[in-house]
Amino acid sequence: MLVSVVIPIYNEEELIDELLRRVTGAMDAITASHGFATELLLVDDGSRDTSAARIQAASVTDPRIILISLSRNFGHQAALQAGLEHAAGDATIILDGDLQDPPELFGALVESWQAGNHVVVAKRKSRAEKGLRLFLFNSFYKVLGKMSDIPMDLNSGHFSLIDRQALDSFLELRERNRFLPGLRTWVGHKRGTVLYDRDERAAGTPKMSLAHLMKYGFDAIFSFSFKPLRAIWALGFVVSTLAILYAIFLIALRVFHIDVVPGFTTPTVAILFLGGVQLISIGILGEYLGRIYDEVKQRPIYVVGNIFRNGASEFAAKAKSRKGVEVE
Ligand code: UDP
Ligand code: MG
Repeated sequence: MLVSVVIPIYNEEELIDELLRRVTGAMDAITASHGFATELLLVDDGSRDTSAARIQAASVTDPRIILISLSRNFGHQAALQAGLEHAAGDATIILDGDLQDPPELFGALVESWQAGNHVVVAKRKSRAEKGLRLFLFNSFYKVLGKMSDIPMDLNSGHFSLIDRQALDSFLELRERNRFLPGLRTWVGHKRGTVLYDRDERAAGTPKMSLAHLMKYGFDAIFSFSFKPLRAIWALGFVVSTLAILYAIFLIALRVFHIDVVPGFTTPTVAILFLGGVQLISIGILGEYLGRIYDEVKQRPIYVVGNIFRNGASEFAAKAKSRKGVEVE
């Protein structure tokens, strides 16, 4: 049996060494307890610091470490996708690279998999985020739970184990605007959970800006829910009903010869209100339309720049065998 571990990395030089130490430690523990082989796929998502170089150096001495370097920064979800597509394991563990989720939990994930679960999700008992981020995370999960057309795993992020069968189903989902926790739920299969407390990031600043998080949150809602579209429909219905009632009222005033002082208030309010409703509605349509546009372009989700195993570049080796010449 082989267990793969996939970690996306973007400018994490402050904590790479600590990350490698703890993750390989947890991998050793799996090998010791179950006798399973392990591999560690670190996907460098176009880091501009020494992250990639550090990982490459580590891969020289530890053959389990594989570095997949993307050709530029494609974002968290694309980096995860790259790792998952290259993972060879009978089961694959997904972990964020900031040590907010403890690698020491690998053992528990593997236990649950061995007990017959295809997807094992680590669920947070608590979160270490504070202030605005905490508020946004909590509101997001509340909204998503209400909106989503399928039941979502709330309070769980990426940290999970997916076995071969479930991963193959997952990789068949080719959409570009990806929300991994949602897709992981969508594929179904027998599921287990493991509970844990979430830490602060071990070092450095969050690599996902608030704008990125918003995009990610919108992807979650718009790709798993038609409710915003239905809400437009309902809103239009309510507004038209009110308008009809108001028209009847005005006609009645005329019929009964009740004089109305002509004013600007009513038309102004009506125009502003309807204008607002229409703009919001067009905006929501735009969110779906933009995503449809993204999907029809059929671009790959990521582009690999290079892959290093044992410190050596696979691409250089390929080029060499093609041309029969020495390549640096
Ligand atoms: N990450 C990435 N590409 C990006 C942004 C982030 O691969 O464009 C990685 C990052 O290095 C980390 C993980 O994704 O390993 C989660 O990022 P972060 O902790 O910043 O996200 P947050 O915890 O704020 O959701
Ligand atoms: Mg984080």
